[in-house]
Amino acid sequence: MNRTLFVAGNWKMNKTTAEARDLVSKMLAPLREISNVEKVLCPPFTSIPAVSPLLEGSGIGLGAQNLHWEEKGAFTGEVAANMVKEFCRYVIIGHSERRTYFGETDETVNRKLRAAIKVDLIPIVCVGETLDQFESGQTAEVVRRQIRLGFAGLGTAYVSRIVVAYEPVWAIGTGKASSGENANTVHGKVIRPALAELFGDRNAEAMRILYGGSVTAANSSEFFSQSDIDGGLIGGASLKPDEFVAITKAALR
Ligand code: PEP
Repeated sequence: MNRTLFVAGNWKMNKTTAEARDLVSKMLAPLREISNVEKVLCPPFTSIPAVSPLLEGSGIGLGAQNLHWEEKGAFTGEVAANMVKEFCRYVIIGHSERRTYFGETDETVNRKLRAAIKVDLIPIVCVGETLDQFESGQTAEVVRRQIRLGFAGLGTAYVSRIVVAYEPVWAIGTGKASSGENANTVHGKVIRPALAELFGDRNAEAMRILYGGSVTAANSSEFFSQSDIDGGLIGGASLKPDEFVAITKAALR
C-alpha cells in the first residue's frame, strides 16, 4: 500500500503570535517546495488565526492541539470542534501530555475523536506506553487497549483518513528516541492489526501511523525508511525551522 507520508509539527505551548508568524516565515518557502509529503503545523490556539492566512494556498495544513467534545455551552476554557474547524483541517487528540497533566483517558479520546469526525476534521490520535509499561513488557497490551477504547464504535466510512501517532511517553521530549526497528514493530505488529480488527484490513492498510518522540533531522530517516512508519509527529524539533524542514525532506521516499 502506498501511503503518503505525513509530518506534523506540534508546537505545544510555545510562541506568541508574533513569534509564530516569524517561525512560519522561516520555513514556509522550503516546506512549500517539498511535495508528496502531507505537512501540518499545530500552533497553540491563540496563534492559529495569525498563522492561518500565511499557510493559505501553501499546501501546508493547519492543526489544533486539542478540542472539546461538546458542541457549545458552559465549558470555560474549552474550544469546540466546529470552532477548530473554522481555521483548521487537523486536530491532535489524546497527546500523552494531555493524558498525563489534564486527565484525558481513552474514553475522552473517543468522545473527542467522534466530535472531530462529525465536523470533518482529520484527527491525529496519539497512543503510547509509559517508561514503566515499556520496561515491564506491556507496550503491546497498553497500545492495543488505547486503540480499542479510543476508536470504539466508529463506523468505517471515515476511518481511513484518521492518522495515528505512536508516541512512547519515555521518548517524548527526552532526547531518547525509540529505534526505528522497535517503533516499526509496534506499528506493524500491534497498531495496524488492532486497527484491522476494528475496521478491516483494507482500512487499516490505508491509515497512516506516525512515530513521535525525540525525532530530529539526524534520526528521521531511520524512522521514515521503515515499512510501517508513515511519517512523524514532531515536538521540539518543529520549533527549529531548519530541523523541521530537514525532517520533512527525509519523509520523501
Ligand atoms: C510530541 O510532542 O508529540 C513530541 C513527539 O515531542 P518531541 O518531538 O519533542 O519528543
